[in-house]
Amino acid sequence: MGLTTGSTGRRAVDEGLAIKRQSPKEKVIAIAGNPNVGKSTVFNGLTGLNQHTGNWPGKTVANAQGRCQSGLHQYVLVDIPGAYSLMAHSAEEEVARNFICFGAHDGVVVVCDASCLERNLNLVLQTMEISGNVIVCVNLMDEARRKGINVDLQGLSRRLGVPVVGTIARKKKTLSVLLTALDGLMTSKVQHCRTIPYPKAIEEAIAVLTPAIAPIAGEERARWLSLKLLDGDELLLKEIDARYTVFHNKTVRAALIQAREILQKNELDGEHFKDAVVSSILKEAESICCETVAKEGKGYSEMDRRLDRMLTGKLVGYPVMFLLLCFVFWLTIVGANVPSQWLAEKLGVVQGWLSAAVLALGAPRWLHDMLVLGVYQVLAWVVSVMLPPMAIFFPLFTLLEDAGYLPRVAYNLDRPFKRCGACGKQALC
Ligand code: GDP
Repeated sequence: MGLTTGSTGRRAVDEGLAIKRQSPKEKVIAIAGNPNVGKSTVFNGLTGLNQHTGNWPGKTVANAQGRCQSGLHQYVLVDIPGAYSLMAHSAEEEVARNFICFGAHDGVVVVCDASCLERNLNLVLQTMEISGNVIVCVNLMDEARRKGINVDLQGLSRRLGVPVVGTIARKKKTLSVLLTALDGLMTSKVQHCRTIPYPKAIEEAIAVLTPAIAPIAGEERARWLSLKLLDGDELLLKEIDARYTVFHNKTVRAALIQAREILQKNELDGEHFKDAVVSSILKEAESICCETVAKEGKGYSEMDRRLDRMLTGKLVGYPVMFLLLCFVFWLTIVGANVPSQWLAEKLGVVQGWLSAAVLALGAPRWLHDMLVLGVYQVLAWVVSVMLPPMAIFFPLFTLLEDAGYLPRVAYNLDRPFKRCGACGKQALC
């Protein structure tokens, strides 16, 4: 089943949030993280299942559940779809966000890729704004080591203020530290949500809204809810209103108008607000990584930075992308004709031999036609037409991916794709 309004709508989301506990003592833990950081491997390693929660278009977006037992507790682990951010831009990010924000869980494990921690910390920090009960699982430690990246786990834990464990999820034994950390989290006091510092005007707007929201949603959630009410993401607003009925509350409505005026006065409304929030989170992630991640050898050089700016800029980025993709398609469609023709000729020669051999064996005409003209010739045509374009197209795209160009194409195409109801990640399809 693909993505449908039904599968991603409120009802489905609410059903996905309800986790059946076999006993009230069971602890529900969400396993969150960016796509491809090893969430499912962690989940399968701990539960003994073999699930894969997909995060590609066309796959049902759902949470997988499994159970595992530690020394102290029985856990229900919920493998939620991969998300880069909780400011949901896609159906899978919406499912992930709703479970983290509104699911009845006792904690969240955010799985990160040790070799690109800074990007992963975006989700960690956003999750910590909602819930204090977070464990950061820095996975793919072997890959990071191979790339000469060293993560100071203790330093990271100190900076984040939550437990941090390092794992190599493919080696199940390394996951025992995660279970121990979970046991520790369950027995420790409930942690407070993280406060990320935002620009002054946003802080002022939050300060106006928080006292109105706190009596409805509690002190702990008030700051995050204020931020989201100011953000104005319609889908999330509906979710928030369905749970806290904030828009029926006169005090909240008045505070919201006042808070929005503050933002408007400081030109921080609409897209500017989102940009300011995202850049504050990224700055925090960068500052944490500067202190806790060390890379042997050269890091992200000035040359890489310039190349990035050029290839994703409007002036150079779009023409280069257009020309490069035209070249790839020209080579695939027109260039493939040469090997196709060569292959067709050679397979045609073999057909002549085969035909002579079958007739020499005294096979009746219908059997000859069926085997030679039916089976062999059709197969030869398919191979000579299909093989050369595939042998050109796929290696070329692999080269572009290895060179790091495809993510830049996805970035460049994100806006036009969004206008069509898709997202830049679908550029390759
Ligand atoms: P998910 O999309 O976050 O659920 O990621 P998966 O669990 O599907 O893992 C993506 C890929 O990374 C798979 O090929 C895993 O085998 C691999 N993988 C997961 N954890 C590790 C790890 O610690 N080290 C290495 N080398 N590979 C890993």
